[in-house]
Amino acid sequence: MDRPLKSDLSGGILGVGILGGGLAGLALACLLAGRGHRVSVYERDRAGGKLRREEAGGLSFDTGPSLFTFPGVWMAFLERLGEADPLGLQPLPGGLGLHYTPLGPVPLPVPPGHPLDAAWRAYCAKVRPLAPQIVPLLITPPRLTDPVFLRASRALFAVVGPHLTAEGWIRAQQFPPALAHAIRTHALNAGLSPADAPALYALIPALVGAEVYRPAGGMGTLLDVLLGFAAARGVAVWEGVEVTRVRSATSTLALSGGEMARHDLLVSALDPHRLARLRGLRAHSPTSKRTVSGVAIYAALPEPAPLPATSVLPPSDFQTFRTAIRSGALPPDTLALVHAEGRRLAVLLTAPATARPLGLGHPWVRGQVERVERRLGVPGLLASADEVLALTPEHYAAGGHPGGAIYGAALPVWRGGPLHPQPYRLAPRLWQVGAGIHPGGGIPAILGGALMVDGLLSQHRR
Ligand SMILES: Cc1cc2nc3c(=O)[nH]c(=O)nc-3n(C[C@H](O)[C@H](O)[C@H](O)COP(=O)(O)OP(=O)(O)OC[C@H]3O[C@@H](n4cnc5c(N)ncnc54)[C@H](O)[C@@H]3O)c2cc1C
Repeated sequence: MDRPLKSDLSGGILGVGILGGGLAGLALACLLAGRGHRVSVYERDRAGGKLRREEAGGLSFDTGPSLFTFPGVWMAFLERLGEADPLGLQPLPGGLGLHYTPLGPVPLPVPPGHPLDAAWRAYCAKVRPLAPQIVPLLITPPRLTDPVFLRASRALFAVVGPHLTAEGWIRAQQFPPALAHAIRTHALNAGLSPADAPALYALIPALVGAEVYRPAGGMGTLLDVLLGFAAARGVAVWEGVEVTRVRSATSTLALSGGEMARHDLLVSALDPHRLARLRGLRAHSPTSKRTVSGVAIYAALPEPAPLPATSVLPPSDFQTFRTAIRSGALPPDTLALVHAEGRRLAVLLTAPATARPLGLGHPWVRGQVERVERRLGVPGLLASADEVLALTPEHYAAGGHPGGAIYGAALPVWRGGPLHPQPYRLAPRLWQVGAGIHPGGGIPAILGGALMVDGLLSQHRR
């Protein structure tokens, strides 16, 4: 895996080329530039990647991530940079939201006095020993020689026991069925069905509890802050510049427009399959081995929707959902996340990663939207919008994994979650970071991954 950098790279200031200006590329750029390296970021489109700003109906929408969890990872990132927190994270009312399971609605976290309160508290008590270890697990490279990693992974194994998958762990707990169904939903944080997601993902509702945040100025502030940190450290962010070829032996990049760029070190913050193709290597990605994609619908409503901040509609049957997603078929009822904030409405439908242009007029999308509206008691809500835009699997495929798989390839469970023996270093001068490397690559995994790679690079250079 990671071997020390060659002596000709040890010490001194490096010129670093980062491929991809999503959150991962930008976060790592800040850290490396903070150490004095000269960093250039190449981004084929707009900086931010899956987090981007779009306009509809006179409102600005921050697309992509909507829930900011495990803020301890963000604090660790700020500490490494020597910055104060400019995000002003606000708790999201209702935490992870109301889950409309086929067995009844389940709020997560379950509030005191709710019929599921006792089962929820037993679940939280079981998971609690892992809570102090979750941030270390997210920011520490998975190495058996690292005492911090060993302590954290021991705490994880103590809670998950012999169960490899989220489904296996949930079944063994014999939760009331409605609570089990709601918890299963969070396997999708790994982009996988519960039968394919590592057991850790069954613990997420308990670990997160009510600690669900959003920056005061919206999720786009995270992008602004990263760009601000990068600019202050002299990072050059080249938007609209696509890397078309990577020659790792000479750490040279061919760029759109025909230019070449040579750096001492390259770090890819692209999906690993994309990178492989740019290196001229074969990369195979069968549909059954991809994480999910999605249709993200953003609507500017004429007036605020009568909805809580977050509503979750799980699939009614996870086995049917899994069979459909793995075969590339559209599930009869899919996971839908609904976020309402004033006149802004976001409906995120989980879809198989087949790069289909599933626009608003597609019958499956219309059917899923109707299901959501019916269940939430707001028929015709989307049709009433001033303007609606949709980002489809085709969009996510354009800059990411084949098919638009949001979290990249579906790794086998033993390589998923935080126990991921990932190849951070692919060649002497080529490293990698980002959602496809840090499984379940939401914001915590991505920031944690940037901290890991920054730490590994600096250790190797001592
Ligand atoms: C709908 C949706 C909802 C989500 N919800 C949440 C949530 O609530 N909470 C959470 O924590 N996470 C969430 N996520 C996940 C999170 O947004 C992503 O995991 C994260 O933004 C990925 O960051 P990244 O930098 O690794 O990848 P990306 O954002 O994909 O960045 C990769 C960048 O590389 C660029 N690129 C690709 N090829 C080239 C090339 N050849 N040359 C130059 N540049 C290139 C791309 O344009 C892109 O900007 C969500 C994602 C989506 C899509």
